[in-house]
Amino acid sequence: MAEVVDISTQFRLLPKKKGYKCRCSRVHIVEKSRMIECRDCGAVQDPYDYLMNMAETQNRVMIELDHRRREVAKLGAEIQELKRIKVNLNAQVRRKQKVINWS
Ligand SMILES: [Zn+2]
Repeated sequence: MAEVVDISTQFRLLPKKKGYKCRCSRVHIVEKSRMIECRDCGAVQDPYDYLMNMAETQNRVMIELDHRRREVAKLGAEIQELKRIKVNLNAQVRRKQKVINWS
């Protein structure tokens, strides 16, 4: 007669905690089941789905990073222009003060 294996004793399939939304960022590989398990909530995920989610998240982060880099470059150019305007305005103020002082 074949031995009945209780899966729940081999590896955990149910979350450790309930009532909060876990981001499942700390995971480890369960070699017996060839699955990914969250260290915090115990959620079990398919490795392919986990990698796909990570790749999608990384793709979104890279797009956001590229957007931020372009924004930094644009703001840097605006700062340079404002500095140039400030220098010109200071020079105009000095010239006007000389005119006022001589009259
Ligand atoms: Zn989790």
